[in-house]
Amino acid sequence: MNHTATPDLAATLIAENFSRDATGVLHVGGLPLTALADTYGTPLFVYDADGLRRAYRALKQAVAGFAEVDYSVKANPNPAVIRVFHAEGAGAEIASGAEFDAAMQAGVPPEKILFAGPGKSAADLDRVIGGGIGEIHLENREELCRVAAAAERHGTTVRVALRINPGATAQGGAMRMGGKPSPFGFDEEDLSEAVDAVEAEPRLHLVGLHLFAGTQGLKAETLLGQWAYGLDLAAQIARKIARPLETIDLGGGLGIPYFSGDATLDLNALRAGLPPLIETVSTNPLLAGARVVLEPGRYLAGPAGVYLARVLAVKVSRGSRFVITDGGMHHHLAASGNLGQIVKRDFPLVAVSGGEGVSPCTVSGPLCTPLDVLARAAMLPTLAEGDLVAVLQSGAYGLTASPTGFLSHPPPAEVLVDGGQAASIRSRGD
Ligand SMILES: *Cc1c(COP(=O)(O)O)cnc(C)c1O
Repeated sequence: MNHTATPDLAATLIAENFSRDATGVLHVGGLPLTALADTYGTPLFVYDADGLRRAYRALKQAVAGFAEVDYSVKANPNPAVIRVFHAEGAGAEIASGAEFDAAMQAGVPPEKILFAGPGKSAADLDRVIGGGIGEIHLENREELCRVAAAAERHGTTVRVALRINPGATAQGGAMRMGGKPSPFGFDEEDLSEAVDAVEAEPRLHLVGLHLFAGTQGLKAETLLGQWAYGLDLAAQIARKIARPLETIDLGGGLGIPYFSGDATLDLNALRAGLPPLIETVSTNPLLAGARVVLEPGRYLAGPAGVYLARVLAVKVSRGSRFVITDGGMHHHLAASGNLGQIVKRDFPLVAVSGGEGVSPCTVSGPLCTPLDVLARAAMLPTLAEGDLVAVLQSGAYGLTASPTGFLSHPPPAEVLVDGGQAASIRSRGD
């Protein structure tokens, strides 16, 4: 069954993040997308720096007094995007050597970078330890030994935190992802052994806990439950090592609405639920001095980005309208429903120049596969060759989460709009 993104979600998102001018043309950061498409060509990702800042500041303010907010680079690793968050005060969470380089290129000092990810290679560990990384999150025994060996090679001590895969026990319904088998982190059942193993390595300095319980959380209550659980695990680690923790990383996973019926994460409810957590931290001398950190990606980068594609053809096949564009799953796998969606539902997708006579259509891409669909039941006005469509909520898990090599079209350009000016931050084909 198909679910249609209601025009309401798209309209709400446009009202929050963008605007339309008197002729109906969609603007991002004050610039008409029609002009950006003419200047930079299509397909094109456009990000609004003010939108990135707005998301960062809103979350930072909501969790002030409890946690700091870092940025998870994998959501959008373009250094220009990382730079915006860095300028807001964010550190960076990276998951590869290349993401370390991207964060460094964006000006993030290495001590504000932390490395998570279930399979860190010796080469990547050499790269980040050689570069002076702030912290590495350990996810399994072999990795623990590889980090210790890399630290030895570099003649240094590495600050590490234990990533824990939470158990089934506490929090009931609030722990959405608890208790499952996972390649990420040490199972909670093995926490004590894992602590001993780290403590036995003279080159590793255990400073904290990392818990990331699940992505796309839209309920404040769920997130608060996960964070409370994380604080409990942190207290267990601190008790076991009998010294204060320096880092409590509660992960990312804050969601944004993509589909009709998706709630918007209520930051006021999040804020209202924090006092007991703040109390837990401040009344435990082993936790009180720790830096509590969140590291969202999607929440910070998603709403500020759109993916622009140009219509190549409009055909009616046996009564159904197909809008065929130059953009597709090779640039935006998530919008095509092939990145982690079980039921394929449509991202909010709009006609850039508005228009009359809205009716349903399938928006498909140029690839020779039926998987290449950007929307299955979009409600769009009459469109013709040369018109533009925009996929909203495309600032996170867009370009670099897509199979750009498939069908060998050139990767799209990326543009950042800031202060009424557009700048190319990746050229087409690069
Ligand atoms: C992917 C990831 C994140 C970001 O997740 P979002 O759902 O985009 O917030 C944060 N931390 C780690 C360790 C991750 O792997």
